[in-house]
Amino acid sequence: MRKTKIVITLGPATSSPEMIERLIRRGVNVFRLNFSHGDHETHADNIHMIRSVSKKLDKEVAILQDISGPKVRIGKIDGVLKLDKGDIITLAKEENDDDPHTLALSYPLIIDMVNIGEEVFFADGTLQTVVIDKSEDSLVLKLLNEGELTSKKGVNFPKTKLNISAITEKDEWDIAFGATQGIDIVALSFVQSPKDILKAKQIMAKHYFDPFIIAKIETSEAIANLREILEVSDGVMVARGDLGAEFGVTKLPRIQKHIIAVANEMNKPSITATQMLTSMIDNPFPTRAEVSDIANAVYDGTDAVMLSDETTIGSFPIQAVAVLHDTIKDVEKDYPYFKTFQSVDESDAISKAAVELAKNLNKEALVPFTMSGMSAQTLSKYRPKQSIYAVSHSLKTHRRLNLIWGVRPLFVMEDIKNPTKLLYDFVIKILDEKRIDPHKRFIVTIGSTTGKRGSTNLIRILNKEGMEAVLASEF
Ligand code: PEP
Repeated sequence: MRKTKIVITLGPATSSPEMIERLIRRGVNVFRLNFSHGDHETHADNIHMIRSVSKKLDKEVAILQDISGPKVRIGKIDGVLKLDKGDIITLAKEENDDDPHTLALSYPLIIDMVNIGEEVFFADGTLQTVVIDKSEDSLVLKLLNEGELTSKKGVNFPKTKLNISAITEKDEWDIAFGATQGIDIVALSFVQSPKDILKAKQIMAKHYFDPFIIAKIETSEAIANLREILEVSDGVMVARGDLGAEFGVTKLPRIQKHIIAVANEMNKPSITATQMLTSMIDNPFPTRAEVSDIANAVYDGTDAVMLSDETTIGSFPIQAVAVLHDTIKDVEKDYPYFKTFQSVDESDAISKAAVELAKNLNKEALVPFTMSGMSAQTLSKYRPKQSIYAVSHSLKTHRRLNLIWGVRPLFVMEDIKNPTKLLYDFVIKILDEKRIDPHKRFIVTIGSTTGKRGSTNLIRILNKEGMEAVLASEF
């Protein structure tokens, strides 16, 4: 079993039942829908296709809704604006059709927030400028390198504290739509502080919507507030596209390692995203460097790796997933398993002990019974070599666990609040359904008051004799 998970973005190249089936068979765990593109009708069709194909294959996958957030862009440009180092351009609150060197912004009020001496980057950081003058309505920028601009290119302000809400009106509308679709995971773009996540939660609560929330880390502000953001989120995305634009690409490897290490320590899943296999948009084979990048993300400790253009508009989406799968499998032959952390509470200590037992007794699998998914996630934190077969008490948890390193969502079982009966039902089910080899020796973790988050307090070794004892138990 592959432990590091695969997230792919669905798009024109892959949104058909046939392609979705091939992708699931090839090992995709999570489908991402990018709400920067497409209308609700198209997204609803895609969600319907994913759910019906997974049902047909009897393999539930997770659906991640990526909310676009306040991406700052320039306005319209006629054709291509070629610029040389030292040239001067102006960012103004109003469009100026008469002057090609005066550009408007999608959020004009940002002009008030930027100071002289701060940097402004355009087009994924390829065009860099510094603010040399400022008036009430405009910023004067000097080009630090040569390059070109076309309409609607993205703008980054790496040194500026931007006081804009991470949730736009469109995002609110998209979240309300996600709630009607039973989305499993929502990723929020351009998160700057924990307040942004809390605001999203408030909006979601109005719609009785309680997805996993992934904070996309893509600004220097988010890096500065990383721990506080993680405290209130369910996971993070290393959004290398905008991070690269904000910091410059040469700083990305160090930033990636930092984000993943903090997420690992705080027991939150991380997704490493963007340009993993860019060359495979047009070619059936990856470059050596791309394969090394995938491997390094896995060694860094990421829970999942993600494809974007490779599977939305690429010509070789299935091959790209196969390259991810094969590379991860090979790295996992030589992975630094059994990480150590100070446990933070009782259920964390139980998970740590269960992993330690599995290692020392050379057991073949860990089986957490989990309501919220947290006990499966906490076993995963210790990166056991053994598989983690999670038994969930809700379909919602079962699907979300697709994102967590090393966790294989096994099946959903009713929560009957009686651990003895629960174990009995489990043994009967695995003997009946043959989903896992009943001759394997398991370490089971369970809560004596099952169904309560954080209540895991029981470890049971299940071997042949243990199973016989469970079958003979009275309840
Ligand atoms: C990124 O910036 O890497 C990213 C995943 O975000 P976007 O949705 O803007 O591509």
